[in-house]
Amino acid sequence: MGEFELIRRIRDAAGGGEGTCLGIGDDAAILEIPAGLQAVVTTDTLNAGVHFFPDADAGDIGYKALAVNLSDLAAMGAAPRWALLSLSMPEFDMDFAGQLVDGLLGLAREHGVVLAGGDTCAGPLSVTVTAIGVVEAGRALTRAGARPGDLVVVSGTPGLAAAALRQLQAGAEPAAAAARALRRPAPRVVLGAALVGKASACIDISDGLLADLGHILDASACGATLEPDQLPVHEALAEYGDTRRWRLQLTGGDDYELCFTLPPDTASMLEGGRGAGEPALSVIGTVGRQAGVRCRTAAGELFDPGGAGYEHFT
Ligand code: ADP
Ligand code: MG
Repeated sequence: MGEFELIRRIRDAAGGGEGTCLGIGDDAAILEIPAGLQAVVTTDTLNAGVHFFPDADAGDIGYKALAVNLSDLAAMGAAPRWALLSLSMPEFDMDFAGQLVDGLLGLAREHGVVLAGGDTCAGPLSVTVTAIGVVEAGRALTRAGARPGDLVVVSGTPGLAAAALRQLQAGAEPAAAAARALRRPAPRVVLGAALVGKASACIDISDGLLADLGHILDASACGATLEPDQLPVHEALAEYGDTRRWRLQLTGGDDYELCFTLPPDTASMLEGGRGAGEPALSVIGTVGRQAGVRCRTAAGELFDPGGAGYEHFT
C-alpha cells in the first residue's frame, strides 16, 4: 500500500458530476465554468505545529483544511464547486491519510464540492487545499466598497475558537461549542451567497475581527466605530467578564465567521428569521469617515482592546 493505492481510494470517494469534465487520475483536471459565471480561486495551507496540534485528529485536519478555503470563497459570495488537496506527510500512513481525506470529503459533500485533484508527497506534515467557486460575472464581494453610514455586521459568535485554543493550551477541556468552532468551523457559504448584491464589502475572520475589519476599512478608505456591547454573548464564554470577552472576540483568530458592511438601503436583510443551521447576525458598529477603528461602550467610554490580531512572522 502506498501513494497510488491512496490516490485510487481518494478517486473512488471524490465523486464527480456536472462541470467536472475530468477529475482525479490524469495529469490535471478539466473544469467547465458556465457562461456568465466567473471562477473564484483561493488556497490556504495548514501546517502541523502552526495551525493545528501535531497530535490533532486526522479527520478534523482534513475538514478544517477545506473549511478555511470554503470560508474564503464565502467571503467573496462565491458558490464552492471544486477543491484540490496537496498532502505532505513525514512517512506514508494510510490510516491517517484516509481519515484526513474522509474529514475533507464529508464537508465537501455538504457543499456539493468535488475533489478534482491534488498531490501527495513526503515532507513535514502539511495540508494545502485550493478551492474553486463560481459567482455571477462582476458580482463577487470584495473588501473594497464600504461607505460611511454602512452598518458593520458579524455572523455567529466570534471568540469561540480563540477561547478553545486558550483553554487547550492551559490543559483545560473547552466547552463543546468552542471546541467545535476550533476543530470544525462551519464555513458561512449560504450567508456569503445571500450577501451578493446586498453587502458593500465582506471578509472572513481568520486573524481576528478587528484585524480583518481593518482590511475592509483600508481597502474602502474608511474607518468605523464599534460597540463591543453588541457582540453576541455565548455560554461557552461565560467564564469571561465583559472586557476580557470583548478582547477575545475582537482580537482572537480562527473564527471563520463573516464580517461585512451593509448600506442602509439593504439593511432590511437583517430582519426576519434565518434558515436552520444559519448563524445569527449582529450589528456591531457603523462605518465612518475617520480612519481607524474606535470601540465605544454602552456607557459612552472608549474601550482599548489591545493587540489587533494574529500575524505570522511576528
Ligand atoms: P503527476 O505526477 O502527474 O502530478 P500524481 O501521481 O501526482 O501525478 O497524481 C495523479 C492523480 O492523482 C492526479 O489527477 C492528481 O490530481 C491526483 N492526486 C494526487 N494526490 C492527490 C490527493 N492528495 N488528493 C486528490 N487527488 C490527488
Ligand atoms: Mg502530482
